[in-house]
Amino acid sequence: MRVTLLGTGDTTGTPTVGCECDTCREARARGVERTRFSVHVENDRTGESLLIDFSPDFRQQFLTHEVPLPDAGLITHVHFDHIDGLGNAYRVFDDLPVHAANETDPKTGQSVAETVASKFDYLDRISVRAQTPFETFRTCGLDVTLVPVEHPPLLCYGLTVEDPETGAKLSLSGDTSYGIPEDSRGVLSDPDLLLAEAIVPASLCQHHPLGGKHFDDEGVPRTFGTKHMTREGALALADDLNAEQTRLVHTAHYYPVEEAFEEPLAVDGEVYEL
Ligand SMILES: [Zn+2]
Ligand SMILES: [Zn+2]
Ligand SMILES: [Zn+2]
Repeated sequence: MRVTLLGTGDTTGTPTVGCECDTCREARARGVERTRFSVHVENDRTGESLLIDFSPDFRQQFLTHEVPLPDAGLITHVHFDHIDGLGNAYRVFDDLPVHAANETDPKTGQSVAETVASKFDYLDRISVRAQTPFETFRTCGLDVTLVPVEHPPLLCYGLTVEDPETGAKLSLSGDTSYGIPEDSRGVLSDPDLLLAEAIVPASLCQHHPLGGKHFDDEGVPRTFGTKHMTREGALALADDLNAEQTRLVHTAHYYPVEEAFEEPLAVDGEVYEL
């Protein structure tokens, strides 16, 4: 399994347009990008590939990185930075199956699968496949399992991708607070690679109107506000899941410049062979 991180930024990306903060300036100086979130998973046995989330930066991502267009897609939740790139399917794909969860979100009155279908009902090139969380399905010769995480007010899902032949396992937290339910953690545990969202360092919680949540023994918040993990929360999750390797993703330009390019924060274009 070959995993390419196409988009490792949060909803505005780094550099953020119009921003002259030290982190955005340093990103431009280094030629580094954190575009909106997307992960490309290639089954190197069959040559098929699965795209996890459709970034608004889809076109630029596929022009920049050496990856084939996907044979299937998956949407974790219906926020702009994860779904809006699906419009790129028009005149690019003949038929693209797109997997998403089937549970009705009380906030929207629709499941993620239903929102994808209704938002892109003008696109006959995609066919939505509604999936039940915790029930493993096979796509591109890989086994995929969606698990609920915590991203109020919307339903959002983390997931695992496993190669049934080699046993290689990728786990992805999705956009989430540290409050991931225990049964979801059970599915996500023991990955070869964990992609954990870590929007900002815990030190920035003092600037959030709601502060932080899920404090560790030293009082450090593992959740920023209510819906994203801090860097410290993401690292604690990696520990709890016993991840072999961890990259922090969905990071914002609010990281102070001296921390923004340190390990294990990911940047676009990283490739992992599992
Ligand atoms: Zn900035
Ligand atoms: Zn989100
Ligand atoms: Zn997001």
